[in-house]
Amino acid sequence: MTPADTSGHDAISTPLPWQRDAWEGLTALAENDRLPHALLVSGEEGTGRRRFVTALSRYLLCQAPVQGSNCGQCKTCLLSQGNGHSDWRWVGPAGKARGVGIDQIRDVIRFSAQTSALGRYKILVIHPADGMTLAAANAFLKCLEEPAENTLILLITRSPAGVPATIRSRCQHVRLPAPAYEPALTWLAMLSGDRQLAKSALAAADGIPLQADLLLRVDGALDQAEAQEQMFSRLFDGEGEPTDVATMLSGMDPGAAVSGLLVRLHRHLRELPCDELRGQRAHALFALDSRLRDLQRAIAGGATPQKELLGAALASELAGILGSGPSRC
Ligand SMILES: [Zn+2]
Repeated sequence: MTPADTSGHDAISTPLPWQRDAWEGLTALAENDRLPHALLVSGEEGTGRRRFVTALSRYLLCQAPVQGSNCGQCKTCLLSQGNGHSDWRWVGPAGKARGVGIDQIRDVIRFSAQTSALGRYKILVIHPADGMTLAAANAFLKCLEEPAENTLILLITRSPAGVPATIRSRCQHVRLPAPAYEPALTWLAMLSGDRQLAKSALAAADGIPLQADLLLRVDGALDQAEAQEQMFSRLFDGEGEPTDVATMLSGMDPGAAVSGLLVRLHRHLRELPCDELRGQRAHALFALDSRLRDLQRAIAGGATPQKELLGAALASELAGILGSGPSRC
C-alpha cells in the first residue's frame, strides 16, 4: 500500500453529492453480493474520482457500515483511516513513468493471490489505469480473467479510451459525472459558509469544484488565482505584456503553470467565432494545446522543467501566436 494514498482520511468517507446515483447503484449491488470483480471508474479531473473510490473502498472494507457509508469506528475503518489497511492496495506509476509498469503488476498479482487478512474484501486500486506499459497490461489481464475471491479491482482513469481495450472490456464502466454549476456552488458554499466566496473560487477554478475547494483552503490561493486570471485574460485579449506573463508563470509550480494555461487556452478556444476556428492562429493554438498536454503528462510522470525557462518559453510562444491577430479562412 502507498500510505500517501490511503492515509489521512476523515473517520467517515462519503461520495460527493453529484456522485449519489453511481454510489447508490454500486452499494445496492454490494448489499446483494452482485458487485462485479472489476470497475473502470472514469471522470474529469477535479470532480472527485479519488474521493469516490476511497469512499467505496472504505465502505466495502468496513465491518459494520451505517446508513450507506463506512462506520468510522470499527477496526477496519481505523486501519483504513490511518496508516493503511493490508487488504487495500493503491498502485500508481513509479518514478517518471506515465503508467504502472510490469514490476508493480507482479506485486499486484501477488496481492490478488493472498487471503484477505481481515476477512472481508481485498481492494486493489490502480490510478491512473491509462498509460500502462504493454507488458504490464498483458500481465494484468491475468487478474481480470481469473478474479480472486472477494477481490475488487478499481481502475481510475480520466478517459476510458486511454485504457487498453483488452482491460476495458473486462470491467464494468462507472462514469462519474461532473457537477452542474448550482450543485457545485451549493457544496462549496456549505463547506466555506460563504456563498459569495464560493462563487469566486468556482469562477477562478473554471468550474472545477475540487480545485475551487483547494483555493478556499490554502491561504492566499484564491487571491493569487484571481490575479493570474486577470493576467491571462489580458494576454488572450491581446493587451497583456509577455514579460509580465513570463514573470507570473516563472513564479508558479510548473505543473500549476501548465494546467492554468491549458484552462485559459481551452476557454479561449471555446469562445472563438466559428469562422476563426479553421484559421492559422487557431491551428497554432491547437498545436500549443497538444504540446501543453504532453508537457503536463511529462510533469505528472516526474519531469522537472526549470521554472524560469518554462515561463519565458510559454509566454513568448503564446504572445507570438496571439500577437499575429486572428486569421479567417
Ligand atoms: Zn467501519
